Amino acid sequence: MVGGGVIGQVSAFALARARWTVTVVDPSPGLGATVAAAGMLAPGGEAAPGEEENHRLHQAALDAWRELVDEIAEVTGETIAVHGVGTLVVGLDAGDRRLVEQYAGVARGYGVALRALARRDEPAPFEGLSARVTQGVLAEGDAWVDPDEVMARVRAANEALGVEYRGATVRRCTADGVRVVVETDGAPLEGELGLVATGSAGLPGGLEAPPATSVRPVRGMTLRVVGPDRYHLPMVRAYVHGRPFYVVGRAGRYNVLGASSEESPVRAVELGELQRLLRDGLEVVPELETADLLETRVGLRPASGDLRPFLADLGGGWWWSSGHYRHGVTLAPVAARRLLDAVGPA
Ligand SMILES: Cc1cc2nc3c(=O)[nH]c(=O)nc-3n(C[C@H](O)[C@H](O)[C@H](O)COP(=O)(O)OP(=O)(O)OC[C@H]3O[C@@H](n4cnc5c(N)ncnc54)[C@H](O)[C@@H]3O)c2cc1C
Repeated sequence: MVGGGVIGQVSAFALARARWTVTVVDPSPGLGATVAAAGMLAPGGEAAPGEEENHRLHQAALDAWRELVDEIAEVTGETIAVHGVGTLVVGLDAGDRRLVEQYAGVARGYGVALRALARRDEPAPFEGLSARVTQGVLAEGDAWVDPDEVMARVRAANEALGVEYRGATVRRCTADGVRVVVETDGAPLEGELGLVATGSAGLPGGLEAPPATSVRPVRGMTLRVVGPDRYHLPMVRAYVHGRPFYVVGRAGRYNVLGASSEESPVRAVELGELQRLLRDGLEVVPELETADLLETRVGLRPASGDLRPFLADLGGGWWWSSGHYRHGVTLAPVAARRLLDAVGPA
């Protein structure tokens, strides 16, 4: 397994459960795009025009998540919390409210059960939002997980199943017709099968992408703050003067604010990007005004040409799983299943 982000490690878990002997090779497992993710499993709140197929996949992933949680608990006795709080989608100005209406039309067209809410009738879900937000739609089926918790629990389960972790960068991947070979700065590794799950980093040397299969980095930033207690509230996805913003409230008054989106391979905190995110966040959730900024987290989302995830057979025993873009945490159990269906049990 070349790459130990959420896709590589959850895939490693599926393979190890199917009796494969697995080695994950990654200099910093879990610290790629995965570390920046908010962890929303939100097929309802994130339904987007022209993405019905992706939506169906995200919906299936939500069920697959509940099974994954049970499977991990069977191995370690430790569970991963899936918080089914739903997503409240709102707009700040008149144009934003039109965007909410458009979103609701698309989501309902995909079969998402949405509840239209008026703040004066049901104020509770709107707690802490700007007084300008008077209505919204609630996608009740959505949930969130904490990606830090996910990575810790999946790794513990993998280690319990005998998965080995090697802290190394893979320089080159080859195949001799019988074995796959992974070259690092240390001793090479050999195996029957190789999966590349390097997110936006793409293929290491020695492997070639099939025609029309590509991945590019799209930078995103989330802010972590301690402030208002929004743990009991739905996730909020807002349009703010046409730009998307979200807040996910975790336990201990910890909130995740996101997310920026820039076509860039540079993992840096740009001030303009940070300012836009903060300005939009404070405008729609004024109670964040006195929150303490803990950290910014930046990740490079792996986007394919058609924005769909893929599992590509590279030949010689090599596979490539990427393109999970804005939804890799959501899609991890589906990606793992897809790989296992392709390669079968050991
Ligand atoms: C700001 C932000 C918010 C997000 N929010 C959400 C969300 O709420 N819900 C959701 O579902 N998704 C979300 N995502 C998307 C999600 O984070 C990604 O789709 C997902 O993390 C991709 O996982 P991955 O394992 O493919 O890549 P990564 O997590 O990037 O992992 C790739 C791994 O490969 C390793 N690697 C790279 N090259 C090599 C090499 N040559 N040798 C060895 N190892 C290598 C890296 O060290 C890294 O650990 C968000 C992303 C961002 C940036």
